[in-house]
Amino acid sequence: MILDIVKYGDALLTKRADEVTEFDSKLHKLVDDMFETMYGAPGVGLAAPQVGVLKRLFIMDCSSGKNKNQKVALINPIIEVEEGEQIGDEGCLSFPGIFVQVKRPQRVVVRAQDLNGGSFDLDVLDLEARCVSHETDHLDGDLFIEYLSPLKRDLLKRRIKKRIRDGEW
Ligand SMILES: [Zn+2]
Repeated sequence: MILDIVKYGDALLTKRADEVTEFDSKLHKLVDDMFETMYGAPGVGLAAPQVGVLKRLFIMDCSSGKNKNQKVALINPIIEVEEGEQIGDEGCLSFPGIFVQVKRPQRVVVRAQDLNGGSFDLDVLDLEARCVSHETDHLDGDLFIEYLSPLKRDLLKRRIKKRIRDGEW
């Protein structure tokens, strides 16, 4: 089932999400629906608060469905290592049509739980590292526009407000 994506302007996106404690069929269904929603959007990462669920989990697939090994759900993720830096264009499904340059670590090691509660480490580079960093931020209510300079951020917020007024958001 395709879920509605919460867009910037909704207070939900700035809240800290709660730990996942139940690894039940409801969680499995949520993750299935999130993958369907992400592939349909299309996007390479999606955090639960972006579909209105304030829980600490996100999904990603930086191959956009081409490589099964890159399809992963991370429950209760904790970033253990951040190394180097990369600067590149970044988008967010909660900010349709908006791309901004964001500095992120080049490499990230994240510890997370799988759908059954078992824990695993994921050691990723480049786009996947960018994605893990971006999606983990969502779970703390942090959005990518916070990385912009105050001036650029204000300009972008004004552009978005205009789109909201015009009913184009
Ligand atoms: Zn995002």
